[in-house]
Amino acid sequence: MDSKFVRVKCDDCENEQVVFNKASSIVKCLVCGRTLAEPRGGKAEIKTQILEVLG
Ligand SMILES: [Zn+2]
Repeated sequence: MDSKFVRVKCDDCENEQVVFNKASSIVKCLVCGRTLAEPRGGKAEIKTQILEVLG
């Protein structure tokens, strides 16, 4: 998979945030702390709603 930035929306509080799809650590919502993405096999697994892939 290519390196991309993905705009996501938190399932819990609807905060929108940009996440790198190869994040090497857990990405949490800046507002409520929900896990939005977690590293898995060299890429990030997005655990919430994806709004847009920014490329
Ligand atoms: Zn949130």
